[in-house]
Amino acid sequence: MTVHAEQREFQAEARQLLGLLVHSVYANKDAFLRELISNASDALDKLRLEALRDKDLDVDTSDLHIEIEADKKARTLTVRDNGIGMTREEVVDLIGTLAKSGTAELRQKLREAKQAAASEELIGQFGIGFYSTFMVADKVELLTRKAGESVATRWVSSGEGTYTIESVDDAPQGTSVTLHLKPEDAEDELHDYTAEWKIRQLVKKYSDFIAWPIRMQVERRTPAAKEGDEDGGDEQVTLETETLNSMKALWAKSKDEVSDEEYNEFYKHIAHAWDDPLVVIPMKAEGTFEYQALLFIPSHAPFDLFTRDAKIGVQLYVKRVFIMGDCDQLMPRYLRFVKGVVDAQDMSLNVSREMLQQDRQVTAIRRRLTKKVLSTIKELQSERPEDYRTLWTQFGPVLKEGLISDLDNQDTLLRICSFASTHSDEQPTTLTEYVERMKDGQQQIFYATGQSREQLLNSPHLEAFRAKGYEVLLLTDPVDEIWTGSVSEFDGKPLQSVAKGEVDLDSEEEKKAHEAERQQQQQEFADLLSWLKQTLSDHITDVRLSSRLTESPACLITPTFGFTPALARMYRASGQPVPVSKRILELNPKHPLVTALHQAHKTRPDDTGLVETAELLYGTALLAEGDVPEDPAKFAGLLADRLARTV
Ligand code: ADP
Ligand code: MG
Repeated sequence: MTVHAEQREFQAEARQLLGLLVHSVYANKDAFLRELISNASDALDKLRLEALRDKDLDVDTSDLHIEIEADKKARTLTVRDNGIGMTREEVVDLIGTLAKSGTAELRQKLREAKQAAASEELIGQFGIGFYSTFMVADKVELLTRKAGESVATRWVSSGEGTYTIESVDDAPQGTSVTLHLKPEDAEDELHDYTAEWKIRQLVKKYSDFIAWPIRMQVERRTPAAKEGDEDGGDEQVTLETETLNSMKALWAKSKDEVSDEEYNEFYKHIAHAWDDPLVVIPMKAEGTFEYQALLFIPSHAPFDLFTRDAKIGVQLYVKRVFIMGDCDQLMPRYLRFVKGVVDAQDMSLNVSREMLQQDRQVTAIRRRLTKKVLSTIKELQSERPEDYRTLWTQFGPVLKEGLISDLDNQDTLLRICSFASTHSDEQPTTLTEYVERMKDGQQQIFYATGQSREQLLNSPHLEAFRAKGYEVLLLTDPVDEIWTGSVSEFDGKPLQSVAKGEVDLDSEEEKKAHEAERQQQQQEFADLLSWLKQTLSDHITDVRLSSRLTESPACLITPTFGFTPALARMYRASGQPVPVSKRILELNPKHPLVTALHQAHKTRPDDTGLVETAELLYGTALLAEGDVPEDPAKFAGLLADRLARTV
């Protein structure tokens, strides 16, 4: 008896994805089986854990396994597991929609991807899990019963916009997915998914390491041994159950026993990825804390890397048994993009998240893993520069979070970082390379922070550095505003913002030569400076003559220990109020606007027009660094007025 049957529509983006898959030209159609087995394996892990946690759960966990059944005549392929199963709601949520965090981005990319080649690329990047079945099937049936529940759910779809869902009274616990294979693949020997050799090959290739047995009924042919039968006689065909996978954990094998392809397939399983990893890091530790680990650095950043719920990519196993995913005790947040497994030998199977927090062994493992990942990146930098660049483009901004949170490894992190700089438009530089290029007598590493390279290159702060040929790092990630506040030096060279504190780029000789001129300027401008300081006291703390300006009339400088405006904005955006820190206005004594203002102030100190000029001077200094005057309308009014008198 079935009850409560209904037909529903897929969400728009799921429909679009399905359309793409039904007519897929994706070269790697075979991957659908990996996805089904991967899901079944996850479901078995979940059931085992749930049974441990909930002693009242009435389930049999004595023979957890995956079963594959092919029917040549009906042209169906079924993958069955006796794992956790799904409730009706879960089926609607998980299978009926694209319940992935990257939905929005995927949707947009699908819209853009008009050609087949682009779609193929997309499939490779995003991973499509369960939906990949529609590459090979024109109808998919899913029958599932959640552990501990009596009613099961049947879900059927031909991948064309709708699916039906109904409750079913009677079904074994777990999930079975039956594919009605596309007729066009029947004739194609390479894609006949009912052929025993094909299934065997795919399981071996993609899923050999799966920790649960993957079973199939296989035909065994034995010659009917009849005495005196010269030509061997008839073959006898019997069916027997065979486990197709070795179930051997890859991380337990030594490196030279595992092929790159095996590593890649394992990565795809645990990372739910469709592309190959960039770097594979096998690890083994013997001694007090025995563990094995197999870590991967992906080739692409996930789209949720910077969202609050971005997960840690490392799973904990104890003695080959999956314990938990998203294991944040094993990896620092700034390495959340690293995927992999850690298998500890001397830990309880009942270990909980809370217990991990206080576990000395876990802390030690985490420290080792962190060091290993960082040293691997360092090697990459010198040995595989192309891959290092890919890594840096994808994960640089996350790695830089470590400069703030992981003081133990700050120095190593500084060495693996690279930054855009005024030295080259294309190639980022490491700090080591920067230091090698430092000019004679240069004591500091100069950097500028801001929104974009363009804006920084044009900012008044950079003028004198450019004029004198000093290299400046151009830091444009939001995190740069923060770490530059907590890293004070590299290799004994202090880091100095071009927009903070005092800078003096003159050599000793130049200083001597300019000393007299400076003193004279100082005296000459003294009145103007104190008048400006008073006039603009709402906006600034001080006014002084600048040694960093060569072209612009003025710029704004953050005091050495003050918050830059960008940093203050970030704090405010995250709900932490910070005191408004007023900045220092620096004037270029050689600029015509400044000299004219100076002259005017000397001759007509009471002219109210001069106050407007001061406001305009301050406003343009803000504009020049890409900021907006506090009262844009007022600024625009003043400016329009002034222009009206000069056209
Ligand atoms: P992913 O595995 O990356 O989450 P899938 O599209 O492969 O994405 O699967 C979507 C979800 O459907 C899974 O996360 C899981 O919750 C559920 N699911 C799929 N297959 C099974 C299964 N055999 N048993 C239980 N749940 C499953
Ligand atoms: Mg999956």
